[in-house]
Amino acid sequence: MSGLITLVFVFILGSMIGSYLNVLIYRLPREQDTVLSRSSCPHCQKKIFWYENIPIMSFIFLKGKCSGCKIGISFKYPLVEFFLGIIAINLMPANFDIISLYFFAFYLSVASVFLVHFLIDLEFKLLPDKLNIYLAIVFLAHSLIFIDMSWTHWLLGLLIGFGFPYLVTWGFYKYSGKVGMGGGDIKLFGALGLFLGPMGVMLTIFLSCFVGAITTLVLILTKIVNKDEPVPFGPFIIIVASVQIFFPTLFKELTQWLGIGGL
Ligand SMILES: [Zn+2]
Repeated sequence: MSGLITLVFVFILGSMIGSYLNVLIYRLPREQDTVLSRSSCPHCQKKIFWYENIPIMSFIFLKGKCSGCKIGISFKYPLVEFFLGIIAINLMPANFDIISLYFFAFYLSVASVFLVHFLIDLEFKLLPDKLNIYLAIVFLAHSLIFIDMSWTHWLLGLLIGFGFPYLVTWGFYKYSGKVGMGGGDIKLFGALGLFLGPMGVMLTIFLSCFVGAITTLVLILTKIVNKDEPVPFGPFIIIVASVQIFFPTLFKELTQWLGIGGL
């Protein structure tokens, strides 16, 4: 029974984090304050009361409509809350000692930022600096404390993660006059390098370009997107890095299968 109570508690905690992520997803690309101001309906500006802001439940009570203007609330909101609840349960530690709780908080916050990055880039073609800085700080601290390797792990990871795509993008720009990769993508690679190290981030760069190129080609050939329309690259980085970080065994098998496991 106590196991079930813990599960429910962790799910609620996750969905509450999801509720705040919805605030970030809406406000970060619009450069609005993300901490203090109360949420309001984007259509009629009606302030949202606390009881209309309970994760998942409020969406059901309000029947998916704003209590002011009755315009539909996006399904994305309860979905993000539910998803974070499920992620929190999956990351839940077996023991509640301080180290296990730290790891829980670390992985949950990385998953949260990944989700926000993913959804903002998909809609706005933008990876906010604030989120990249947050990831860089959390990854660097984690590497310094927990990764039992020399400083070359995070420093070379940063240099390669940031430097390599930067140089390629710069060269491509000089050659073709076109911007290949956005600054946000390059900064995200840099942040990931702090955690994944030089070899790990090389794999992220290679595989996200690979998956991104194939997906974009399919989207253009099937005429889902116009060939002149830019496809955001961030989601591909996030997908590859998520497999690397959250499913390391699967990632190892994949890279071995592709013949690049030795990297
Ligand atoms: Zn409204």
